[in-house]
Amino acid sequence: MSRTELEELAWRWRELARSLSNRAGEDSRTSSRPPSSDDPYRRDARGQPTAAGPDTGATSAGSPESAGKPAQKNAGTPAGKQPGAKGYWRRQPIVASAEVEHAARVCAACRALLGPDLKRRCICAHNSLELVRAAMALQVTATRHSYFAVRCPCGHDNVDRPRVGLGSLIEGRKRNLRMSERCLVGPMLATFIAALSLRCRLSRRKIQEFLRDWLNLELAVATIERCVHEFGLASEPVVECLIQDVRAAQIVHLDETPWYQRGVLLWMWVAVTATTIVYRIGSRRKGELTALIGDAFLGWLVTDGYGAYRDHPRRQRCLAHLIRKALALAEGSYGAGSDFGRDLVRDLRRLIERVHHGADADALKRLTSRIKWNCQCNRHEIETKVRDLAGEILNDWGAVIAFVSDPNLPPTNNDAERALRHAVIARRISYGTRTDEGSRFYAAGLSVIDTCRRRGVEPWAYACSLIATARANLTLPMIPAKLAA
Ligand SMILES: [Zn+2]
Repeated sequence: MSRTELEELAWRWRELARSLSNRAGEDSRTSSRPPSSDDPYRRDARGQPTAAGPDTGATSAGSPESAGKPAQKNAGTPAGKQPGAKGYWRRQPIVASAEVEHAARVCAACRALLGPDLKRRCICAHNSLELVRAAMALQVTATRHSYFAVRCPCGHDNVDRPRVGLGSLIEGRKRNLRMSERCLVGPMLATFIAALSLRCRLSRRKIQEFLRDWLNLELAVATIERCVHEFGLASEPVVECLIQDVRAAQIVHLDETPWYQRGVLLWMWVAVTATTIVYRIGSRRKGELTALIGDAFLGWLVTDGYGAYRDHPRRQRCLAHLIRKALALAEGSYGAGSDFGRDLVRDLRRLIERVHHGADADALKRLTSRIKWNCQCNRHEIETKVRDLAGEILNDWGAVIAFVSDPNLPPTNNDAERALRHAVIARRISYGTRTDEGSRFYAAGLSVIDTCRRRGVEPWAYACSLIATARANLTLPMIPAKLAA
């Protein structure tokens, strides 16, 4: 090459390197990319939302939407209606189409039957909107519920009142959540609203718009919020039982994904068994794992390469992750490392296939020895990525090939990855949750819905009975066991 050609080439390469490195450094502040595409871990470096360490409270960071805006704008300003803002009240008149009378039939003191002819007075009454699901029909109806006091001939006053159920008390909050039968929104309509929020990932405003446009029903955002939270609150005791199911399971898939709570980086953990799915939003520490599977878990864990799982003796490493890394080597320019990547992809895929089809032990042994040998040869490769992948497989060798000797173990962690997809999309739409209570309710609600789906139980009928019993302070129904296929 002549000197001019060399100079020309060097110049072109310099330009290419410059444009690539510029593009790699771009994020939502400096390009048209959406904020949801930002790397959650690189946010930390920019002094934006920080990870919740042991000593940082929920108040330490602004929300990610405020990237670039002055931080004081939302520091200390609570969400919701601001002092002095114009109030919003019910404008739609409610026309009740039916009336339900609640009056004691038997005297609590003398056990005598209380006939309809006895003198009674109305204690309280409220209207309740309910969604009626008939075959191919959906309708909102209003019912008037009246509660009566009946005077028995023995002199005892039998008073019937709406029952009050579960509550969520937080110190310093102006208005706490307390479930009660005295509620504008009936259990099925509340379930429907919770489904729109949790399953269809609609924001509170979008739910309001949907109800107004399609059901001709005007509800305030706070009422909608209350319905979603009621479902979360009623789900919490059920999730306690689901966690017991997870701890008793033979095989548990575990995975985690970033989650934001008021802009603070947390993790959403998921534990998936054959019949149960439990979510948990918490810190990124290992203690959260103990909260899910307990200290004395005896079964098998199926996980990715994350360090928090490493201590567990009975563990299957997700091969899909390793294949993905090997594929990156094969398709990148790593010289001899690319050949290693190609061989690894082929061998790992072949291993999964042969185990699935039940190949004989000798063939499997030859294949695993070849993978191990291949990794050993590349353990001291100059390229960091090649060296790291070889080391990763060798350091965790027992967990990589555990499924070869135990045919019940799945070779990949797809069950947990799939379970998290829904929440990942929700995070991208809504930017996570805002409070501890909101995170708890969100995780509990998702756990109940997904466990129902996994067990072949209709989630919404179950959710409706859950809300109704939690409001009436009765014993909560448990999710039925998996129906026989
Ligand atoms: Zn009596």
